[in-house]
Amino acid sequence: MSSGVAAAPRAKKLVRSPSGLRMVPGASAPRSPFGLVATVCFLSPAIPRLSWELRERECPRCMQCDAKFDFITRKHHCRRCGKCFCDRCCSQKVPLRRMCFVDPVRQCAECALVSHREAEFYDRQLKVLLSGATFTVTFGNSEKSETMVCRLSNNQRCLILDGDSHCEIEVAHISTVQVLTEGFAPGEKDTHTYSVLESQPASKGGNARATGMFLQYTVPGTEGEAQLKLTAGEDANTSRRQATAWLVAMHKAAKLLYESRDQ
Ligand SMILES: [Zn+2]
Ligand SMILES: [Zn+2]
Repeated sequence: MSSGVAAAPRAKKLVRSPSGLRMVPGASAPRSPFGLVATVCFLSPAIPRLSWELRERECPRCMQCDAKFDFITRKHHCRRCGKCFCDRCCSQKVPLRRMCFVDPVRQCAECALVSHREAEFYDRQLKVLLSGATFTVTFGNSEKSETMVCRLSNNQRCLILDGDSHCEIEVAHISTVQVLTEGFAPGEKDTHTYSVLESQPASKGGNARATGMFLQYTVPGTEGEAQLKLTAGEDANTSRRQATAWLVAMHKAAKLLYESRDQ
């Protein structure tokens, strides 16, 4: 069995930044794939304050309403996008867990909207992913399938599948997430493809119910891509509900990862 837990470096530490307290991974600890790197230098205590002050001079007006900054109209930075705004255009304080802030921080209207959406992921879906669910798992083109519990690892970096066999897939190595759904109308079938690396989701919305998931991923040291299929059990009991919730949460996670590629 793995003894990785005992050898793990200190997972997190509390850091005081000019924008507020942040709970960040220790220097040697791996980062969560859901985390965002701060886009502006003033978030990093490692960069000298001088460069922040230089940056201050470069932005004389609010980037939203064009108000000129002066002694009364003070400049504020959105903690998420790093752009300069007046108080009115950057007044919302919203949790920003992806940048490890402990308390809600000031964000512009556009970023606040995105962060609100993500807060739901952290408050609900992430917990579902961590607690896991039971699936019928088929690897590659194998004829055989296996009942396994699939969950996100505590450091959020791996999907862990446990059954008669054990398998770990790095979230960062997943290239395609395809949610298999079934509409509520009998016989109506639908597929939501969500390719993390390749394309936008073919999202249809509606009352479709997630019944399974197809994952494509790379395995370090091997050529090409591996794939597996998760199918929720057919029995209409708690574990089925749990599996459906897990699939929905994984779909949200894939969206989050996809969107953050451009940030
Ligand atoms: Zn403004
Ligand atoms: Zn912003």
